[in-house]
Amino acid sequence: MYIGEMTRDDFKASADRDPIVIVPWGACEAHGPHLPLDTDTIQPVYVATEVSRRLQNTLVAPPVNYALHSSTRDMPGTLTISFDTVRSIAYDLVISLWRQGVDRTVILAGHAGSGHISAILEGCKKAVRETGTQVIFLSDWHISEDYGACGDDDGHAGCVETSRILAIRPDLVGSIDRDAGHFEHTYRILRDGSTCLPDGYQGRISEATADLGASINDYIVETIIGIIQHDFELAA
Ligand SMILES: [Zn+2]
Repeated sequence: MYIGEMTRDDFKASADRDPIVIVPWGACEAHGPHLPLDTDTIQPVYVATEVSRRLQNTLVAPPVNYALHSSTRDMPGTLTISFDTVRSIAYDLVISLWRQGVDRTVILAGHAGSGHISAILEGCKKAVRETGTQVIFLSDWHISEDYGACGDDDGHAGCVETSRILAIRPDLVGSIDRDAGHFEHTYRILRDGSTCLPDGYQGRISEATADLGASINDYIVETIIGIIQHDFELAA
């Protein structure tokens, strides 16, 4: 159930039943020439909605639509917010949910840039330390890597992400058939991070299909349900 469509009294009644609330955390980020800027929002919103359909007493909060970006920061359409802002939003949301009686929050990030992940983690840790509330924080990107499709060279806006969006919103996927690589810089700190993604995406796009995307999405949903059951010690 989506919190944004509830009334005040619906929410209060749900909060009284000790729910789990999933906050999808998206982004507005360039995803190559073929995927929408909302790609990192569409994926966790879909996953959160499916988890809430399959797992009792689980609600979906309105998504956060902005993230911290580095390598794609200067690409057309990427809107970035700062580390401190991300950390503050994470902290503020967990605290606000806790004040509303929600004691089990899941933050699900579609964008998995290292700075963004660190900022959310810091905000969550501070809130947990101060209140004792329970928080799970994870990225569906990392779980999609565990699925192991599309090869080790797949990356940003690559075969996995293209397949996943083909499965959820095929109307938003442009046609593209040229695979793209990336510049491996290992330990070097780049002044312009976008030089590691010369085409703005990375992977064998030609192998992307809606069927593959549907099975990756389903794997992510089931994996997250297992993580929630384990970490929040629910009876399976
Ligand atoms: Zn993405």
